[in-house]
Amino acid sequence: MFISLHELELRTVRFNVDIPAGEIDYDSKITQSSPLHTEGTAKLLNHSLGEIRVEGDLNVTVEATCDRCLETAKFPIGNHFDLVYMPAAEAKGRAEDEIDQGGLEVGYYEGGGLALEDILREVVLLALPMQLICDEACKGICPSCGQNRNQRDCGCQTEAVDDRWSKLRALRAEIGPHN
Ligand SMILES: [Zn+2]
Ligand SMILES: [Zn+2]
Repeated sequence: MFISLHELELRTVRFNVDIPAGEIDYDSKITQSSPLHTEGTAKLLNHSLGEIRVEGDLNVTVEATCDRCLETAKFPIGNHFDLVYMPAAEAKGRAEDEIDQGGLEVGYYEGGGLALEDILREVVLLALPMQLICDEACKGICPSCGQNRNQRDCGCQTEAVDDRWSKLRALRAEIGPHN
């Protein structure tokens, strides 16, 4: 869906759409595994400057490879977004500190408007956690033999891989033996 500057000059544009998997090209890290539902509004903040404010909600589930065990994991995303886009030409004339105003995230567009899909891609990527893990308790892959330790304990002696256990051992050493 294209949000045209021309239309925004006449009215607030409302959107309420479901975007099937495969229509938005994310990066190689994630794939969309459910339809993406989004609804919200786009309006002109300032006619003469062409600033477009896009606000709404987004719901989608994406799949990515777990950073620890390398299995595919699902990440549900439900996010509210409120973004301001300025014409790229307008941005060139301004100093950096002028653009970064009021804590609002500012993006840029070129030409007669912007594609909603481009905005949604950005929102989804920003909503993902830095570390993509299938589960807080994911045990990951054994550094010695490569076994996924969520599926089977390989029995390798790998010392202090899990930080929680090494802390517990250190604590036990401090307390001393009980018997
Ligand atoms: Zn995992
Ligand atoms: Zn192992």
